[in-house]
Amino acid sequence: MPSTLCKCGKEAFYFRRLSGEALCRRCFARSIERTVHRTVKREKLFTPDDRILIALSGGKDSVALAHILSKLEKPYRTKLFALTIDEGVSGYREEGISITRGVAETLGMEHHIVTFKEEYGHSLEEVYALSREHGTGLLGCTFCGIMRRRLLNDMAIRLGATKVATGHNLDDEAQTFLINILRGDIARLGRAGVQPVKVREGFVPRVKPLRYIPEKEIAAYVYMKGYPLYERECPYVRGSVRDEVRDILNGIEERHPGTKHAIVNGSDKLMEALKPSTEAATVGTCSRCGSPSSRGVCRMCEVLDMLGLGSNTFINHLAE
Ligand code: SF4
Repeated sequence: MPSTLCKCGKEAFYFRRLSGEALCRRCFARSIERTVHRTVKREKLFTPDDRILIALSGGKDSVALAHILSKLEKPYRTKLFALTIDEGVSGYREEGISITRGVAETLGMEHHIVTFKEEYGHSLEEVYALSREHGTGLLGCTFCGIMRRRLLNDMAIRLGATKVATGHNLDDEAQTFLINILRGDIARLGRAGVQPVKVREGFVPRVKPLRYIPEKEIAAYVYMKGYPLYERECPYVRGSVRDEVRDILNGIEERHPGTKHAIVNGSDKLMEALKPSTEAATVGTCSRCGSPSSRGVCRMCEVLDMLGLGSNTFINHLAE
């Protein structure tokens, strides 16, 4: 039976199964913030003059990230601002967008919102409908991921960001590792990590300060800080590989606590070992759109072809 008292004598708020600690609200919040602080310092994620763009979706991870970084970066000259991407999924994104507005207001943070529809000319729903018409067999998440990554980087350049901070947590990172293994994608394994190896010019470096914090603890932190939790589930999430991997990993973690930490720590070691070859990898540009790409034609142009949309009509929206 876990203790109901924190070591400081206050009533416990969170029981950390892995370490056996019972933590009161204050000690719990401090331990989360300390882990993020340690990660930022150890990995030298930021410099005092950085302009850090936070990818703020409204989900608990991005909300925790915005809150913690606002606190940690207060003593420095770093500028923090947030970007929300509205993919265009009706009945799902509205709640998240409204949460992001509230969070940015509470934290006094400059906030930009962009939509797939305005930037690409097509919402995710429209793209998915086209995909079905063309029988591509691809999932909504595939398009969403490719389009969001491109837009996030393009907006970071447009807004003059020197770093992009994302809210990827321990669970996300353990899942990504397994997905890359399942796909045999060694190149991606080498580019993982809290501060992925920068192998491409034209990409704003991305950092993941929450990489070592479990999803459950982030949810408890956000709840404790009084932010609303974004409960809705995206209609496209079911059926993705990530969804299956998440269920498998949660099952293993339940029976063998510490598995997710072990995977992420192992992934860090593997990344170090693969670093020389990853850094040496030559990256060219896409022959269609000119974006940095390790393939002749980038993934974005590839999916546009499948949808019968030329790169020019679609991507030019971004350049306007
Ligand atoms: Fe995009 Fe998939 Fe996430 Fe929905 S679940 S927002 S489609 S990545």
